[in-house]
Amino acid sequence: MKEGKIAKVSGPLVVAEGLENAKMYDLVKVGKEKLMGEIIELRGNTASIQVYEETEGLGPGDPVENTGEPLSVELGPGLLQSIYDGIQRPLEVLMEKAGDFLHRGIEAPGISRERKWPFKATASKGDKVVEGDILGTVQETTIIEHKIMVPPGVSGTLTDIKSGDFTVEDTIALVKSDDGKEHKLNMIQRWPVRKARPYKEKLPPKAPLITGQRVVDTFFPIAQGGTACVPGPFGSGKTVIQHQFARWSDAQIIIFIGCGERGNEMTEVLIDFPELIDPYTGEPLMKRTVLIANTSNMPVAAREASVYTGITIAEYFRDMGYSVALQADSTSRWAEAMREISGRLEEMPGEEGFPAYLGTRLASFYERAGKIKCLGSDDREGAVTVIGSVSPPGGDLSEPVVQNTLRVVKVFWGLVDWLAYQRHFPAIDWLISYSLYLDMIKQYWRKEVDPEFEELHDEAMAILQRESELKEIVRLIGVDALSTNERLVMEAAKSVREDFLQQHAYHPDDTFTSLKKQYLLLKLVLTFHHKAIEAVKRGVELKVILDAPVREKIAKAKYIPEEKLEEFNQIENEISEQLKAPSRVGEAAGAAQSSGGGE
Ligand code: ADP
Ligand code: MG
Repeated sequence: MKEGKIAKVSGPLVVAEGLENAKMYDLVKVGKEKLMGEIIELRGNTASIQVYEETEGLGPGDPVENTGEPLSVELGPGLLQSIYDGIQRPLEVLMEKAGDFLHRGIEAPGISRERKWPFKATASKGDKVVEGDILGTVQETTIIEHKIMVPPGVSGTLTDIKSGDFTVEDTIALVKSDDGKEHKLNMIQRWPVRKARPYKEKLPPKAPLITGQRVVDTFFPIAQGGTACVPGPFGSGKTVIQHQFARWSDAQIIIFIGCGERGNEMTEVLIDFPELIDPYTGEPLMKRTVLIANTSNMPVAAREASVYTGITIAEYFRDMGYSVALQADSTSRWAEAMREISGRLEEMPGEEGFPAYLGTRLASFYERAGKIKCLGSDDREGAVTVIGSVSPPGGDLSEPVVQNTLRVVKVFWGLVDWLAYQRHFPAIDWLISYSLYLDMIKQYWRKEVDPEFEELHDEAMAILQRESELKEIVRLIGVDALSTNERLVMEAAKSVREDFLQQHAYHPDDTFTSLKKQYLLLKLVLTFHHKAIEAVKRGVELKVILDAPVREKIAKAKYIPEEKLEEFNQIENEISEQLKAPSRVGEAAGAAQSSGGGE
């Protein structure tokens, strides 16, 4: 055994000497309790190790053992419905073994070795197989079929394969490679977390990840395989919106990495998540979810590792051909872990004490997102979409974690406290947010929703921008300085904000909106605006327009259930009627005016 000894302990960091042949990122077992750690700096025979557990009680002279292997995750049936810590130890098992308080040095496999899974072979003896080919399936939960794949690096002829009930370590197939070597395949793969899993080809994103959140889907959409950042101050709604994405987005698999913000927040996640119901199947959402929980009493190093554990699991489901959404809430806790460890290593600090490599680390994490052609001969495609929230102190967007994240992600949803104070939720500021996928997604709308959707989007956006200019005028000179048409723009903007953008996460008919309904709702809001402009031209008084009873119905249209979308038509008819009728009353005045200004 390549054993070394502890020279120094500094919080989560241990310096060891005498570890021969150690490599960067080797996994080591520290002390008599064999606490897990990872080598993160090497100088000759001296290794700096980040330890994933409390280092209390460790001291100079204690043994350090190198496993010679990098930190890896176990991949196979049993991942779904699991709740893991940052290094893939099942929390449930940890709790059972140690009681409520996490004890140190507990080894618990990420995937059960005892449980038997019904494996159904789909490949047959004699088949030529390559890495990534699907050998068969396991119905892992009632809603997800786990594909058992030939692991990366293996190819050849299938000399045996059998269906039946197996544990993940039982041999299910034999592959003889061209050089005559025989590979025994089972249902478990190990993969080093810091290394991206291989794929054939990265593809340009071509469809939105539909989230059912109107401000996201219609205004700042994200692509399947895309990246997004949700920064916002404390209490602005980061966690609520991340939960909304987990529940409602049309990704098939959810990987949720929670990094406890406040003391009890992770407990909330641990209680809330298992109670969430998957709206698409009526089953518990956990049946297609893997939850990685960093409670605040877990050491920083485990938090640092958790995002890598999460993305590796995401890539594995992607490789099966699934669309996976990975959400990290909040990545600031990850960055802070990096900062703490870097400080202990006495590295030269960068901005605000974060390490100089903060940007590179963030980039290499988000770069593991994407739409890809999977390994294997069947040309299947998979996607990992990554959404990270950031909680900069005081909501300051110029802070390094936000800035470095914005450099790599393609969508920015800026949550702001002034909207949250007004109870405008989601508190996404439409004037600062953006999506670089918009052009691509507009093509999708044209084909899949309605050719008009794009125009409605552009017009609504323009109205909101115009509103902010007009507000400035009102602030300086007063509302009387506005023309009637400008007043109508202000009203339209208010309607876009209140009747369309505001969306109640806890209202059963408002919490999710299909793209079709988003289109109809925005159309309704803008139809009123268009008819109002026409009505003014015809001489209808502004007051009549503003008091039109149909406005009440427009305000409530967001609550129209998905099965009753025909109601939108009726409201549209009412708009025409109510804005038309009064014009006859004022016909004379209206006619005089419009002939003056018209043809
Ligand atoms: P953060 O994670 O940014 O600190 P939270 O996500 O915990 O903030 O949100 C704080 C509060 O804001 C929530 O408890 C909830 O009351 C309210 N909230 C946020 N988003 C919504 C929403 N879409 N609908 C209704 N309430 C919301
Ligand atoms: Mg939060």
